[in-house]
Amino acid sequence: MSTTFVGMPGIPGRGNLHAELPFPKAAKAELTNPQLRANLRHATHTIRDKRVRVVGELPDWEDLRQAGADTKNAAMANLPALLEEFERNFRARGGTVHWARDADEANRIVTDLVRATGSPEVVKVKSMATQEIGLNEHLEEQGIPAFETDLAELIVQLGHDKPSHILVPAIHRNRSEVRDIFLREMPDVDPALTDNPPELAMAARAHLRRKFLSARVAVSGANFALADTGTLGVVESEGNGRMCVTLPKTLITVMGIEKVLPTAQDLEVFMQLLPRSSTGERMNPYTSLWTGATADDGPQDVHIVLLDNGRTNALADKYGRTALNCIRCSACMNVCPVYERTGGHAYGSTYPGPIGAILSPLMTGIEAEDNGSLPYASSLCGACYDACPVKIDIPEILVHLRGEDVKAQHAHRRIPTEMDLLMKGAEVVLSSGRMLALAEKGLPLGRLLAGRDKKIKKLPGKLAGGWTASRDIPAPPAQSFRDWWKKEGRA
Ligand code: SF4
Repeated sequence: MSTTFVGMPGIPGRGNLHAELPFPKAAKAELTNPQLRANLRHATHTIRDKRVRVVGELPDWEDLRQAGADTKNAAMANLPALLEEFERNFRARGGTVHWARDADEANRIVTDLVRATGSPEVVKVKSMATQEIGLNEHLEEQGIPAFETDLAELIVQLGHDKPSHILVPAIHRNRSEVRDIFLREMPDVDPALTDNPPELAMAARAHLRRKFLSARVAVSGANFALADTGTLGVVESEGNGRMCVTLPKTLITVMGIEKVLPTAQDLEVFMQLLPRSSTGERMNPYTSLWTGATADDGPQDVHIVLLDNGRTNALADKYGRTALNCIRCSACMNVCPVYERTGGHAYGSTYPGPIGAILSPLMTGIEAEDNGSLPYASSLCGACYDACPVKIDIPEILVHLRGEDVKAQHAHRRIPTEMDLLMKGAEVVLSSGRMLALAEKGLPLGRLLAGRDKKIKKLPGKLAGGWTASRDIPAPPAQSFRDWWKKEGRA
């Protein structure tokens, strides 16, 4: 049995997990695009309304959420043993298991496997793990084109674009933009193609069918791995996944180590939680499960690359580790007021939205490039927690990571900032009744500054001035609570 570094954190996640710009800068650019905001609003509201309707049909939805959270927590607590159990069973049924510490290692393994088949190209099922490691780009550099077969991924690929949503990667495109991309990039497309959705779907279908029928190697991700049987599973809506995992002779799956579940019975819970939370459907159209290789049926050469890439770092964070419970349904994105306005590109990483704001810094380390700004990309309204089918308390982890970011910044700073001094001053005043009484003597000055409309509109200094740049401070009351208390004779 090969060895694994699970439980030995220290190797940060690489690949497409990093923001190129701090979130505020990237978001500012995205916010200037009214078309993007209109597309996002329409798409997120449509999916979220559907989700609310189908979730409301289940009287035991909260019990299901709790069962999902409990199963994932137990799986994470027992991850090394579960992975080894999965490895044993997958091998026993004719599959080959590879372990990859990071994106570079995973890319190398997949490239070597494809080269060994002699195939000049691969077809792909939509996979977050392969986007995370930048597999398409890597294969391209090695002279092996990788063709996405999911419709939205195809649009993104042909548009030389980046996905902006984990479930609906082309959410930022409308149908006339899609038609333009197809006309520009698809060989043999009918030049009279309109932006009618069925026509666009038929054009994509004809394009992809040629690929499916000639492909010798497919690369997929996996939604689940079942330890007790050594089974892998992909959940999808278009049937392209089914084509990829059955037609080619070689099937290579790249999967994050956190996707393993203890038993096949656990699917009972997750197959109810996932489709309802992701697409707002009672059940998803295609669920493909495969267990190793079966003689004369489907791919004969079956591989799994088990990817760490910073996951054990996240697992080592006792406050943040529940982020690994994520089943990538995208419900948190569809309800997030920040995501709805900025879209996914502003987050930089493969994982956008509320889950990306915690997962990316947990996997790469809060100090990595500009990932330190991601935990601030939230109003902490809690909508993500309410929507999450596995009850990940994203707001709590965001606050924890903000604290880690502040600590990381302090570690590199010799001179205290205005904020440090302000917080230190607040600590002194608020921890002593005598000091607080003394500070209250300044309240009349506040009322004076507020003037007739009882609002302080501008304070001096960068920090206090920044606060009042977008909000007013109400005038202090004429009588403080302490004075009132004293006057009532209760002191
Ligand atoms: S954090 Fe929860 S809601 Fe968001 S994608 Fe993951 S499972 Fe879905």
